[in-house]
Amino acid sequence: MELRKDPITMSWVILEDEEEALPEEGPCPLCPGQEALVHPTIYSFPYDHPEWQVRVVPHLHPLYRIEGDAMRRAEGLYDKMRNLGAHEIVVETRDHYLPLSQQMDENVAQVLRAYVSRIADLKKDRRFRYVTVFRNQGKAAGQDLAHPHSEITATPFIPRRIGYELRSSQRYFRLKERCLICDMVKQELTQELRTVDHDDLFVAFCPFAPRVPYETWVLPAYHHCHFEEDLTSWENQLHFARFLKSILQRLEFVTPTYHLVLHTSPNMNARYENMGNWQTLDEDYHWHFEILPVLASKSKSYSLKEVYYNPLPPEAAAKELRSLQVATEAKR
Ligand SMILES: [Zn+2]
Ligand SMILES: [Zn+2]
Ligand SMILES: [Zn+2]
Repeated sequence: MELRKDPITMSWVILEDEEEALPEEGPCPLCPGQEALVHPTIYSFPYDHPEWQVRVVPHLHPLYRIEGDAMRRAEGLYDKMRNLGAHEIVVETRDHYLPLSQQMDENVAQVLRAYVSRIADLKKDRRFRYVTVFRNQGKAAGQDLAHPHSEITATPFIPRRIGYELRSSQRYFRLKERCLICDMVKQELTQELRTVDHDDLFVAFCPFAPRVPYETWVLPAYHHCHFEEDLTSWENQLHFARFLKSILQRLEFVTPTYHLVLHTSPNMNARYENMGNWQTLDEDYHWHFEILPVLASKSKSYSLKEVYYNPLPPEAAAKELRSLQVATEAKR
């Protein structure tokens, strides 16, 4: 596998030599009792315990490899490099059939704690410019292992969309000395046209220009740039777990299939990142989760990726999501 850069859009593309499918037969490698199939454990809660609740393991079919250097090189005018990076799986529960949205609050909080711990750890590696978490739920969203899990990746480049966000946030801050996303949150909370839910710490809303129907962002209503430095107390992890769960439950009334991705700050310890690329980052960028539901009936509408076509206005989507009754354990 190698990474190639599109010189026009500046996106990196992972090129597979030959697609190896994950084994369909046999026991689930993420289930309790099958730990020997995936070695070694990188993180577990409780630590080094056969009755683990949450564990992190290397991906069985990683997109990125941790050893060595990126070996950036040219091919004429083009750029390419090795698929250097990390690719891990967060096994969210022992129960093969229990989706994240149905797990106990404490368990979801432990999943968030695993994210925090792994992101902080991977950011110590100066070869990595960006570390993130995502979860694909449902076959149509690209879920490759049936057991409930999230994925963590660390890459020697900043993904293109994050690059856009970082630059827009920086430009906005230069102009106004305010955080773009804080301003969005304030406006959404005032207008209440696109908010799905909010409490004293967190907010969920459908963005003004959503790429897909029911696209929803979940984020702190207060300002913070780095997810892994913000969500460190058990109290906050539990609070956010409850909030996130209730949003996922609402979305799952519409479709059980979605992509969820964390957008957070790039790795400021990375080599060459100390040259002032992101001087105002702490002030100008704001971590958030983006949830992109996949609706089978609407899938045709977003095959055209250059200009997004979305048949459902976010105001209507948010209104519908707000009206749904969610059964949360002791809702705040
Ligand atoms: Zn399993
Ligand atoms: Zn902010
Ligand atoms: Zn984002």
